[in-house]
Amino acid sequence: MSKLIVRDLKVNGKNVFLRVDFNVPLDEKGEITDVTRIKASLPTLTFLILQGAKLIIASHLGRPKGKFKPELSLRPVQKKLSEYLKKEVVLAPDVIGEEVEKLKNSLKNGEILLLENVRFHPGETENNEDFAKELARGIDIYVNDAFAACHRAHASVVGITKFVPVKAAGFLLEKEIKYFEKMFQAKEKPFTLILGGAKISDKIPVILNMLDKVDHILIGGGMAFTFLKAAGKEIGKSIVDEEKIEVAKEIMDEAKKRNIDFQLPVDFLTAEKIEKGVEVKTVEDGMIPGNHMGLDIGPKTVELYSKIISESKMIFWNGPMGVFEIEEFSKGTTSIAEAIAESGAISVVGGGDTLAALEKAGTKERISHISTGGGASLEYLAKGNLPGIEVLDEVR
Ligand code: ADP
Ligand code: MG
Repeated sequence: MSKLIVRDLKVNGKNVFLRVDFNVPLDEKGEITDVTRIKASLPTLTFLILQGAKLIIASHLGRPKGKFKPELSLRPVQKKLSEYLKKEVVLAPDVIGEEVEKLKNSLKNGEILLLENVRFHPGETENNEDFAKELARGIDIYVNDAFAACHRAHASVVGITKFVPVKAAGFLLEKEIKYFEKMFQAKEKPFTLILGGAKISDKIPVILNMLDKVDHILIGGGMAFTFLKAAGKEIGKSIVDEEKIEVAKEIMDEAKKRNIDFQLPVDFLTAEKIEKGVEVKTVEDGMIPGNHMGLDIGPKTVELYSKIISESKMIFWNGPMGVFEIEEFSKGTTSIAEAIAESGAISVVGGGDTLAALEKAGTKERISHISTGGGASLEYLAKGNLPGIEVLDEVR
């Protein structure tokens, strides 16, 4: 069994509702600062247009909290999209309602209607059934290509599918599913899970669920200090999540019991403040001065982790190894990115900041799959599926 994919559909003359991820970053002037997500949607979009679908596109943008917010209108996206497709894209004045219905009904084959920000209505995040029904009005086929939204049981992701007879995945989602199934099935060994970043709470469910699938777990970033404290180490002023110390201990005990190689950094770059130009010390594990914070993994850790990475056949990475935004503390992260790229392993990388770090390291091209979902990728590994994927049709 696998998911129904857009390429196997007959869409000519059909009303196709396409859920994409146009949640792009905007600057103060409302200009799009990164068009990656728009460009990523083009394969599915172009396919549907060429096959003669009547396209109705939906996305969220930011967090308007159920109200119309002009600064979160999809207008800038409409302009860019029209430019890339070299085709008119009509922006609807709303998401549902009479006027939108008129626009939907007037679509000809290959024409495109972009609905306004779906989160302008509270029904979206509440997964309200009436709102979902309105979204589905007149729709023949539902296509989801928004992996980054698939962990949300929202109306345009989950609710709508109850009222549409055919539900398929777009090309972008197809690729995400393919790689995440691979990670979840964990057949290639050794399999190494690399986690970093600031917040430990997002990552604990992933560790717990993947514990019986992986061979190595490499921890870096700010989250390492909660584990280090749990292990009784001196961590100075490094960030720590006191509430997670207990579960951190349990995870380490469990990993030991199951013979999983659970690694914490063995040295660090530390400083008094998170600031450019500060005085940086390189210290061994347990030796962080009381007034210093650990802000990157040190050279010995880089060497140790790189060796494990080089011997891995499968790798998942989420979360930078240090405060990579500051030059002085970026080396650990870029070195790990380089090691993953060099390893030749099947590699999947997810997370907004982690992708920014990859970009900096210039190793993007040598990663097997760069996930478009941060929260979604973690939740997939924590649960083995996502609400937005579960509701799509299966084929034999
Ligand atoms: P992602 O967006 O890839 O999921 P996270 O949001 O979990 O990653 O974590 C990224 C953030 O973690 C970065 O802003 C980085 O500066 C911060 N960070 C990494 N290491 C440390 C550390 N040792 N101390 C404080 N913050 C850190
Ligand atoms: Mg982040």
